[in-house]
Amino acid sequence: MLKIGVLALQGAVREHVQSLEANDVDVVVIKRPEQLQEVDGLVFPGGESTTMRRLINKYGFFEELQQFVNKEKPIFGTCAGAILMARELIGDEDPFLKAMDIAVERNAFGRQRESFEATLKVESVGDDIEAVFIRAPIISNVGQSVDVLATFNGQVVAAQQGPFLACSFHPELTEDRRFHQYFVDIVRKQQPVVG
Ligand code: GLN
Repeated sequence: MLKIGVLALQGAVREHVQSLEANDVDVVVIKRPEQLQEVDGLVFPGGESTTMRRLINKYGFFEELQQFVNKEKPIFGTCAGAILMARELIGDEDPFLKAMDIAVERNAFGRQRESFEATLKVESVGDDIEAVFIRAPIISNVGQSVDVLATFNGQVVAAQQGPFLACSFHPELTEDRRFHQYFVDIVRKQQPVVG
């Protein structure tokens, strides 16, 4: 069975685990860097990206994460997870993992819209995806090899670049498992053909 990890330093870990388990995969709660070697894909949950990057550095995850990216093992970054995957952060800290050719602006929906829900069409996932946004970032620029999967009010909120998937919202906070299913399919396709 496919093994997918959920980085368990901060954020909605349990909800991601449940959404993945509903898609028939083995889920590994990642608490130590070396556990990354045993999984075929990784979910990078939301939370607070400054805190998350500190914890990643403090507990020595950075190098293993970079290897994961270099090996093109699939990663699904949601909200703060998406921020940490970007090549560029607009008007903010230095970028972190640079796994995707996207520029991201943190907290870009402004104070009035700290958190809200919207129904979105997400390419290849579904026409009616309930999206929960919490102090969400916007993907303000995408490179040529990046596919835009969803927009909200003309702003990009979900994108894919090969095995890497990022979204501004929290698909783990609804009962709808289709976005996780889409990620599981990416992980499955990325497996080497045996025999
Ligand atoms: N605003 C947070 C940040 O900048 C992300 C919020 C979230 O993950 N829900 O890191």
